[in-house]
Amino acid sequence: MLPSGMDSRRKYSEFIVIAALAASIGVPACAAQNAPAQPGILDRLNAMLAEGNSAWTPEQLAVMARLRDAAMNDSYALDQLRHLTDNIGPRLSGSPQAQLAVDYVAAEMRALGAEVTLEKATVPHWVRGVETAELVSWPGHAPGTTQKVVLTALGGSVATPPEGLTAEVVVVDDWQQLHALPPGAVKGKILLFNHKFDKELAAAGGGLQAYGGGVAYRGAGPIAAGAAGAVAVLVRSVGGADYRLPHTGLTEYAPDVPKIPAAAVTAEDADLLKNLTSQGPVSLHLTLTPQTLPNAPSFNVIADWKGTEHPEQVVVVSGHLDSWDLGTGAIDDGAGVVVSMQAIHLLRELGIHPRRTVRFVAWMSEEEGSEGAAAYMADHAAEVANHIGAIESDLGADHPTGIYYSGKPSLGQWLKPVARVLEPIGAETLVAAPETGEDVEGLTEKGVPSFAPVQDSRFYFNYHHTAADTFDKVDPKQLNENAAVMAVLAYALADSDEPAPK
Ligand SMILES: [Zn+2]
Repeated sequence: MLPSGMDSRRKYSEFIVIAALAASIGVPACAAQNAPAQPGILDRLNAMLAEGNSAWTPEQLAVMARLRDAAMNDSYALDQLRHLTDNIGPRLSGSPQAQLAVDYVAAEMRALGAEVTLEKATVPHWVRGVETAELVSWPGHAPGTTQKVVLTALGGSVATPPEGLTAEVVVVDDWQQLHALPPGAVKGKILLFNHKFDKELAAAGGGLQAYGGGVAYRGAGPIAAGAAGAVAVLVRSVGGADYRLPHTGLTEYAPDVPKIPAAAVTAEDADLLKNLTSQGPVSLHLTLTPQTLPNAPSFNVIADWKGTEHPEQVVVVSGHLDSWDLGTGAIDDGAGVVVSMQAIHLLRELGIHPRRTVRFVAWMSEEEGSEGAAAYMADHAAEVANHIGAIESDLGADHPTGIYYSGKPSLGQWLKPVARVLEPIGAETLVAAPETGEDVEGLTEKGVPSFAPVQDSRFYFNYHHTAADTFDKVDPKQLNENAAVMAVLAYALADSDEPAPK
């Protein structure tokens, strides 16, 4: 325990410890020296010392505090995000923009002095076409008129005939309602899955859970509808805002079930179809002309900041570079890429060379099946044991409240000193999670400790996979808070005395 009186005979080394601890919780060293006047700070310092068994020395904790503060006062991540989104634009798997983004990020990482490798991944190459729909007859219809329905094709969808198709709409709220229909009720019809996104759950911070509830219909809806004989399938958008925005996302087909065109309608249009079909027959004309081109060669961008003692031991810090095409992929997941780039940039700026290698990865094709992550696992199968930790940011750029960790329960205790470094930016909560990110899931399954910032998800699913996922949705300060979490955690994993428990 620290004495409550700080006498002038305090040894220099003790001052260094105090300064480092103070820096790590975001107070100036002089304030720590004057601790009797600030009992709150003293209590916190005492708690830290009492904890003991930290995997980091006070000097290392001070480095973390420097990384945190540097991240909060640097525009690198924001500038990179602006370029990726406004200049390069949407980065759909297999597209020229995705390739340009690969080349751009690789060049930026080379410019920082990292060892850059482009690792090949073969990815889907799906291209969006025309996507329109209009009601052509319905209860209360003025003859000769149509009414527009706002929708967007789901990723991977097959096309309607070029002139579109017209069919009656059947609405079900869930799988149970579909199974309760009489045999043949959906045959030749357009089936809408009207599963509502749980906005209250999202507003209470459960955005990811709310999303999971809807994604089941987006993913498997076409298989269930195709098996029931539908000619096309619609799903209610999986997202939260009421701005008549359709949310795209990947859908699936099964080899033994007819592939039918699939689109997401806005929440408002789903309500409209539900209301009108409850009154009588509703007929919709639907035109979708996407194309699935042959799989395309693409790359994960790997950039190593080599470790000084154990260069073969690797800490992954990552986001996915591909995006959907409706917006410019700012929150999903340009933000994750640039906060990871910032980790390398700050190590260079501050001249920090951890014991282990910090490996930046910009994953390719997360949105269309995580082909980049699969290629990485195949290419690095022999080196999984050398992966000390893996971090992915893929839940936007809003304020991080802490760190998700997946692996040994003891990781929570191990991370406590790191959490304290992040406390001044409000990111000190440690949350155990079964998984942390789609692209690091393979590593997680192999027992590699994995991590992600716990981002505020209350607003993320308002814009996710829509035309509104654009640069302006990212708050510079909150982006920097995420960059701070990534940089501090990457350094902590790469420089600890003992590796993270696994
Ligand atoms: Zn994503």
